[in-house]
Amino acid sequence: MKNTSKHQGLRNQLSKILEEKGITDKRVLEAVKIVPRHLFLDSSFEDFAYQDKAFPIGADQTISQPYTVAFQSQLLDVQKEDKILEIGTGSGYQTAVLCTMGATVYSIERQKELFKKTSLLLPKLGIRPKKMIFGDGYKGLPEFAPFDSILVTAGAPIIPKPLMAQLKIGGKLVIPLGQENQIMTMLIRKNETQFEKHEFGEFRFVPLLEDKN
Ligand code: SAH
Repeated sequence: MKNTSKHQGLRNQLSKILEEKGITDKRVLEAVKIVPRHLFLDSSFEDFAYQDKAFPIGADQTISQPYTVAFQSQLLDVQKEDKILEIGTGSGYQTAVLCTMGATVYSIERQKELFKKTSLLLPKLGIRPKKMIFGDGYKGLPEFAPFDSILVTAGAPIIPKPLMAQLKIGGKLVIPLGQENQIMTMLIRKNETQFEKHEFGEFRFVPLLEDKN
């Protein structure tokens, strides 16, 4: 698990590219410079790890494109110690970015293989989410709610009601909504019953799948 000055140079470049593409949150750009994305990919993709592209990570899933990770992280406006629930751990790259920004992260993954692999990888890299859970993100994590933010990293056909219920007042739910393509959507909880909706253009994600159990 090598992390060399060559990798550091590539990360600095990637961070610059994201800034040119419109990411302005300095904390996000800083985290991109720190998290060794090449270690979240199969070694055969190592040479491409710092391109702004999505790649396969096994189990039919992908590591999100860095721009998408940065865009979603920026929408969350992460403050140190924010309690964040991530749905779709996948490779753990997004989890690592949030942890590096100082958030307390709970992350759920429904694919056993990815859950196991990523749960082993993160501590090796010195990244310590509060909890890694194997389960169905549609249900959220009621026993640890409420959250400052909830981030869904797969394309959702609908907004799962339990996720809305698990937000603090003032909290944000960032969720790509739609079947083929998704509209990046943010709900801000105004009070017990009211949510304000904002939309941010089209993205492409693997689907958020409902558990069959
Ligand atoms: N944040 C990840 C993105 C991975 S792709 C990364 O940066 O690598 C989306 C992930 O969501 C996949 O790993 C997929 O298995 C997972 N997923 C899909 N439906 C889910 C559900 N209902 N609950 C939890 N995870 C889910």
